[in-house]
Amino acid sequence: MALLTKAIKGTQDIMPTEVYKNQFIEQTVLDIAGKFGFREIRTPVFEHTELFQRGVGDTTDVVQKEMYTFDDKGGRSITLRPEGTAGAVRAFLEHGLFNETLPQKLCYILNCYRYEKPQAGRWREFQQFGVEMLGTASPAADAEVISLANEIFAFLGVEGIELQLNSIGCPECRKKYHEALKAYFEAKKENLCPTCLERLEKNPMRILDCKSPICKDISKDAPVIIDYICDECSAHFESVKKYLTAMNIDFTVNPKIVRGLDYYTRTVFEFVSTDIGAQGTVCGGGRYDGLVEELGGPKTPALGFGMGTGRLLMLLQSQGIELPTPDSCDIYIAPMGENASVKAMALVTDLRAAGVGAQTDVAGRSLKAQMKFADKIDAKYTMVLGDDEIASGSAKLKDMTNGEAFDIKLDELADEFMNFMLRRETAALGESIGVADGIDLTALL
Ligand code: ATP
Ligand code: MG
Repeated sequence: MALLTKAIKGTQDIMPTEVYKNQFIEQTVLDIAGKFGFREIRTPVFEHTELFQRGVGDTTDVVQKEMYTFDDKGGRSITLRPEGTAGAVRAFLEHGLFNETLPQKLCYILNCYRYEKPQAGRWREFQQFGVEMLGTASPAADAEVISLANEIFAFLGVEGIELQLNSIGCPECRKKYHEALKAYFEAKKENLCPTCLERLEKNPMRILDCKSPICKDISKDAPVIIDYICDECSAHFESVKKYLTAMNIDFTVNPKIVRGLDYYTRTVFEFVSTDIGAQGTVCGGGRYDGLVEELGGPKTPALGFGMGTGRLLMLLQSQGIELPTPDSCDIYIAPMGENASVKAMALVTDLRAAGVGAQTDVAGRSLKAQMKFADKIDAKYTMVLGDDEIASGSAKLKDMTNGEAFDIKLDELADEFMNFMLRRETAALGESIGVADGIDLTALL
């Protein structure tokens, strides 16, 4: 076999045997976000390049090194979204959501694209669950957004994930801090990487986020922003901490967190695990009070987070957390001959319409091969259908877990089967809670 090509480096196929995990995570995060009042928004995979240049920031790794940017056939510069916030804020502005009740609470699950060095927990196409809350400056909003991420981890049973919190102040307090940082790095600049040399001029705080080991080492003793934040930013930070404490959400203050994107102000946070190797940040977010204005909108304080679902799945796996598998096939009908096959197709159609997982033979297999197939797909019940069964209007339903057989009528089979399942489930429930024989729990339904 000579394959024409393989999947692109840094991308992943999620195979049918695994996809239930992603589906479960996706449903879970949307459900939990829904409880907080976040509504899903879907934005395009590609946007005009300038949206990210402005919205993510010219001095970030993402814009400088990681974007998939190309000219389309009309000569426009297009970029595959490297993150979700810029697109969500663009849509918020374009559709006038700032005129509606504030705060607007938006959430999304989307694939992002970054040209990074592929490794465990770092891909070139990856999925993010994100939330954005637009139109509130209150520290209660910071606490609420953080508690949403926290609840997701708690719901999934994740342990040992640490919430690290910092405040990076506002543009005002950052001015003084930038000067201090500049002075610090200026003295060591011969060892900085070329990108950081550029950052030293434009945005020295970015140096703290550089992944190069040498720059990381130089940054170790750099001044920390928390010592420079103004009274208002400091009061905001104290208030966020007070809320979190009252909500029983553990955190540690990590003065080194500055986050990779330019638009953050005040609160920034990461949920970090030591269980999944070097890419331990599963969720990162914070406040971005200046971004909406930066993109041409009215002054709108806002905040959000992005959670990498791939890293989340790695974390669940590393902690042995099993996700519920989807229901397998409820009933497999094994027809013998063409006449029975036609009848079987009609029967599975009715069963599926009633919400039952039903399959039959679509490959012209022998009865023996069909039974093997039913076993492979984990069918709960099988039913052999031949001319005799069709003539008598009744067939045998076989419980695949223990071989027990039951008569079932073919007329109104969907109803018959649903009732049969219900009786068996309530009987099993009765047994498990110790209801005496002869008492029919279905009467309570
Ligand atoms: P990192 O420091 O790991 O590069 P980041 O600061 O660039 O992360 P964000 O832009 O804040 O990450 O994205 C939020 C989340 O998205 C991250 O915490 C992570 O879970 C996930 N993420 C980011 N980049 C990747 C990637 N290349 N592959 C897989 N997940 C990613
Ligand atoms: Mg990154």
